Amino acid sequence: MIYILTGGPATGKGTRSEILARALNIPHIATGDMLRAVATENEEIREKLQRGELISDEIITGLLEERLKKEDCKDGFVLDGYPRTYKQAELLDELLAKLGREITKVMELTVPDELAFKRILERKKCEECGEMYGIDFPPKVEDVCDKCGGHLSVRTDDTRETLSRRINTYRENAKAILDFYREKGLLMTVDASANPETVVDDAKLN
Ligand code: AMP
Repeated sequence: MIYILTGGPATGKGTRSEILARALNIPHIATGDMLRAVATENEEIREKLQRGELISDEIITGLLEERLKKEDCKDGFVLDGYPRTYKQAELLDELLAKLGREITKVMELTVPDELAFKRILERKKCEECGEMYGIDFPPKVEDVCDKCGGHLSVRTDDTRETLSRRINTYRENAKAILDFYREKGLLMTVDASANPETVVDDAKLN
C-alpha cells in the first residue's frame, strides 16, 4: 500500500494523508515535516524553507530513503509532498525498485486558488504536539490546542508572497510529474474541496 498524495499548497494534502494513513494503519510521511525538523539545526535548509524554495533532489531523496527503510514502512506508507520535481519522480521509481516495492496509487488533490489562499493564511500549528488547525478544523478555544493545551502559531513560511511562489513552483513542476504517473495508469484526481474523509473511499477505487 503505497499512496502518493500530490497537489499544490493548501489542497489539504496533510489532512488527507493523515486520515488515509490512519485508516490503513500505515505511516504518513511528509517531506515538509522532515525538512522542518532538519531546519532546526541546518541554517541553509532553514533559509530555503523561509523563502519557499525547494530543497535539492539529492538531499531530500537521501532523507526519504532513510525513512522508507524503517520497519514501520513495511506494510506501506502515505507520501505527502514528494515528488515535487520530475527528477524526484524518477528517483522515487529507482528507490522503490531497489526496495522491491511499487506505487499503489497517485492521488492529485485540486482546489480553487481562492480557497487555497484562505486555507493557508489562516492555518495554525500547535508548538507543542504539531496538531494542525484551520478554517475547516478550528480549535475549540482560540490559539489553544484541543489535544495538549499548547499554544497555536502560524507557520513562518505562510505568507501571501511565499504562498504565491509555492503555487507557481508547484505548477511549473506538476505537469511533467502528473503526466509521468498518468502514463503508468496510476493517477487519479480528487476534488479537495469535499469532505476530507472521502479520501479513504477514493483510495479504494480502481
Ligand atoms: P510542505 O510542508 O509540503 O508545504 O513543504 C514545505 C517546504 O519544504 C516547501 O516549500 C519546500 O521548501 C520544502 N519541501 C518539502 N518537500 C520537498 C521536496 N519533495 N523537495 C524539495 N523541497 C521540499
